Amino acid sequence: LMQISIPLNFIGFLYREIRQGLADMESMFDLLLVPTEISDKPDAVPLKAVEGTISFKDVRFHYDPDRPILKGIDFEVPAGRTIAIVGPSGAGKSTISRLLFRFYDVTGGSVEIDGQDLRDVTQESVRHAIGMVPQDTVLFNDTIAYNIRYGRPAASDEEVREAARMAQIHDFIEKLPKGYASEVGERGLKLSGGEKQRVAIARTILKSPPILILDEATSALDTHTEREIQSALDEVSQNRTTLVIAHRLSTVVNADQIIVLEAGRIAERGTHTELLDSGGLYASMWARQREADEAEERLRAAREND
Ligand code: ATP
Repeated sequence: LMQISIPLNFIGFLYREIRQGLADMESMFDLLLVPTEISDKPDAVPLKAVEGTISFKDVRFHYDPDRPILKGIDFEVPAGRTIAIVGPSGAGKSTISRLLFRFYDVTGGSVEIDGQDLRDVTQESVRHAIGMVPQDTVLFNDTIAYNIRYGRPAASDEEVREAARMAQIHDFIEKLPKGYASEVGERGLKLSGGEKQRVAIARTILKSPPILILDEATSALDTHTEREIQSALDEVSQNRTTLVIAHRLSTVVNADQIIVLEAGRIAERGTHTELLDSGGLYASMWARQREADEAEERLRAAREND
């Protein structure tokens, strides 16, 4: 048991480090040569991701055998559609995105892309097919153009600018004294959380993967920034299969399907309207969020009147 739990903890540690400290999960896994317990089968073939249909079939998963996290998850996202996962903290939402990215293998059931079991294909091809916009993007210490172009190093200047336009960050960049040549990152210009996220979105637009994972920022953004990010996300998720890990409900209203996860099981599923009508967990989460938003709005108004 010890032999199993140490590497798992170590990977958990690395995973957090990567989320917090490093610029890009995909590249950092390569750079660190992380000794994951996930390795390609000898006969693994590249994923043929043409359409981008995602299926979770009776998926079970635990980090620690004593503590099951996912207890039989079934859903399918048709190519090009958007699914949102919501639910209380610790329900297993991010775990679902980690399994799709194949940071871990399922302990039961299967995850498939276009009918291909992720365990039968090469990890490299899976990561190539998926774009990930993480909660916190840490930028490379380089120019803003470099940071966007990282999504597709061969992209032309005009393509970089077009991606920035779609991600609603172009106007901001143009106003910087050095424009696209401005240095960002630890030693350069400090960007806000919302600006960094839009750089990550521009990078993903350039990469143009058939599948997208959006791990929504937990931190509250102001209404204006949130609206800008939302429209950037709408742009990037068009015609791509999109999995949104939603920590706030405002962004899931337009999803084709919402899955409400509770303690590792799907408690409810449907569209926003269907779930509100059924008056269950989602409806009460929605009501609670409305109250919180209204309270915050009143606070802001009071502050402005001071
Ligand atoms: P939140 O909304 O707070 O981000 P979540 O629904 O995304 O929560 P997960 O991150 O999927 O939740 O975590 C589900 C459970 O798995 C949690 O109880 C968490 O403590 C546990 N867990 C997550 N990562 C690891 C890990 N690397 N090792 C062990 N347990 C883990």
